[in-house]
Order: sequence, then structure tokens, then C-alpha cells
Amino acid sequence: MKSFHRLACRKVLNGFPVSRALPFQTPTATRLWQRSYSTAASQLAALDASKLSVTKTSTPKEITSPKDLVFGKTFTDHMLSIEWNAESGWDTPRIVPYQNLSLDPSACVLHYAFECFEGMKAYKDSNGEIRLFRPNKNMERLNKSSSRIALPTVDGEALTKLIGEFVKLDSRFIPNSRGYSLYLRPTMIGTQNTLGVGPPGSALLFVIASPVGPYYATGFKAISLEATDYAVRAWPGGVGDKKLGANYAPCVVPQLNAASRGFQQNLWLFGEEEYVTEVGTMNLFMVLKDKETGQKELVTAPLDGTILEGVTRDSVLGLARERLTPKGWKVSERKIKMSELAEASSEGRLLEVFGSGTAAIVSPVRSISYRGQLVDCGLKTEEEAGEIALNMKNWIEGIQYGDEAHPWSYVL
Ligand SMILES: *Cc1c(COP(=O)(O)O)cnc(C)c1O
Repeated sequence: MKSFHRLACRKVLNGFPVSRALPFQTPTATRLWQRSYSTAASQLAALDASKLSVTKTSTPKEITSPKDLVFGKTFTDHMLSIEWNAESGWDTPRIVPYQNLSLDPSACVLHYAFECFEGMKAYKDSNGEIRLFRPNKNMERLNKSSSRIALPTVDGEALTKLIGEFVKLDSRFIPNSRGYSLYLRPTMIGTQNTLGVGPPGSALLFVIASPVGPYYATGFKAISLEATDYAVRAWPGGVGDKKLGANYAPCVVPQLNAASRGFQQNLWLFGEEEYVTEVGTMNLFMVLKDKETGQKELVTAPLDGTILEGVTRDSVLGLARERLTPKGWKVSERKIKMSELAEASSEGRLLEVFGSGTAAIVSPVRSISYRGQLVDCGLKTEEEAGEIALNMKNWIEGIQYGDEAHPWSYVL
């Protein structure tokens, strides 16, 4: 019993929720148990950033002119690559030239979607120093995602250090002006060669980097959304709150349908109540005026499993509580029905709506198509962004680029 406990605890630390899986006595849990039983704790290596090996490219790429940058199309010279297996833990971290992966066609990622990822950015400040924004948040979320699909967890501090080394090596790809950054894509996949459905015995963690320009190169452009009522993205107890690759492919068709009717993104509603959840790959914020008191309220959906836990969402909430609450604002994480939003709009109490995410920081919304009506989101015809969206963008960007000294900015 004693060793049972110790082993269970150790495996949790290594990302396998064995203690939760065991009581169900599924074949998977049993196999997981047998595997953990046969491996001694001391043999499993944690990720060790000090062991980093670097192989530089012999064919450095040409730098794409900043004005020609397209999101996620060009990549830097190198990649960070770290293998893991259930017998020995994390292998030596390596920075190698950007290259194809070699996978057996039976690799479990290709059949059962053992994949999770992160999206974060590196910024060059006015002194030429490179900064990350709240990388600990991305590391925490990566571990929540990976452990949900029986992939290993990783020491977030060690991985942040390694990402820092990688970014410094490829820093010439980061254009030296405001709005430009290096988009980083940490990814973890299960690499075990088997068609059996079970916990991957081996995994690969890699990070690739793509230089990106400002999302709104010529200033904000408000978007229009279509509320999707015929498909569901996420549900309580599901995995829509994890950044798993499997969550994204099924969203493309509803997105295409919205686009065919002239809407840039679709808005996901949940349940018979039609709660507003999030947009495409952004969380959603609404600014409402109270019917009775006239108090302004910044509202976003709560973390109830139906939305992704955005780092930008958390940052907007944090800044709102710090800078808007003292001015008499209410800041709420609460459920809000699409009908409540439509009613506020018809009464002139919906002041603005915006999406939040790493790519754009904020993305203002002009209108939402809902049950054949167009819900106006409060912008004047000549306006492309509301006051709060503008403030949030400036505040967050100021921290990301180091204009404002702030604990959220991590200098490499
Ligand atoms: C990544 C993502 C977001 C935004 O998260 P950030 O950490 O703010 O970039 C929101 N919704 C979904 C579905 C996402 O995948």
C-alpha cells in the first residue's frame, strides 16, 4: 500500500493522473499502473535546461521583409526539440536547425490526436532586449492540456529558460518595431508507435517560431460575428478548455459557414439558455450599462469548461480590476445569455464588445448576427474600436514591449 501511494504520487507529478485513473479499472488505467509499477522513480529524468545542446544551421534563411509577413507562414532558422519516454523521462533538450519530423505512420498522434499546444510571443523592446509575456501562464496551461491526454508534464521554469535560449539564438527574425513579435508555438505530441489506444509511452515536445506583424497593421478594424446555434464547441466536463489540437479542426466548418454569409468569425453559444462563450480562438468581453443604476460592467464568461482559459483574458480582467474598479466599474466573470446581450443592445446599454487573444490582444466587434437579427455592439459608424478595447490594447502592449515596468514582462 505504501509503495502504491508513492508510485501514484510520483506518476501524478510526471503528468499521469494515475490516482484518478485507477479506480475506474479501465484497461488503460491498468496498463498505466503496470508501467508505473515497473519503473523506479529515481530513473525518470526531469527536464534539465543546463543540458541544452545547440546545433546551428549551416544555411541561415533570408529575413522576410516585415511588410510581407503572414501569420504562421515563415519560420526561423531553428527549433527546440525534447524527447520524452516513460522509462527514462525527459531527454537532453536540443536546439537544431528547423526541419521535418520523422514519424512512423502508426505514431499515436496521427490516429488519436495526442497533441496539445501553446501560443505565446517574444517581443523586442526599445533597448533591443527580448521579452516574454507571462510565460508561466502558458507553461501552466500546457501542463493542464498535456496531462488531460496522458502526455507528460514538464517543468515550466526549465522550459521557459530553454525557450529563452532558442529565442535569443533566432532573435534576428524579430523586427525591431512596435507591433511586431515572434509567435512561439510550443507543441507536444505522443509518438508511440501503436494503433492501440492507451497512454503514449513516448512523446516529443518541440517549439517553433514564426515572426509576425501587427494584427491590425492599418489600425483597428471592427469585425462582425455570427452566433452559431447549430454546433457546440465545448461543454462542462469536456476538453474545450484545454489547448488540444483535436478541438480546432471541428471548428473550421462553422467558421466557413459564417464567412459564407459575410461574418469574419463565429460566436459559440452554449446550452438551451444560449450562453455567450467565446469567439473562434478568442475570449469575449462585453461592456454593459446597468438598467437601473447605470453602472458600467465589463463581463466575460466564467471558466466553467466551456471556454479556453486565455492569458489575455486573465490580463484584461486583472487590469480592469486594477484600473476600472476604482473608477466605479463592475468587473464580472459570469454567465450571460445571448438574449440578455440582444436586449441590452436594443435598449442602448451595450457599449462595446471585443475579443481577446495573444494574436490581436483585442479585436473589436461591430455586430453579432443572432436569430436573423443583427445585434449592434455599440460602436459609432465611424468608430473601429471602443474606449475599453483601446485602453486594454495600449495597457497590455505597453507591458509587453517594456514601456511600463511590470511583473508580467519577462526579460530574457
Ligand atoms: C488560445 C485561445 C484563446 C486565447 O488565449 P490567449 O492565451 O489569450 O492567447 C481563446 N480561445 C481559444 C479557443 C484559444 O484556443
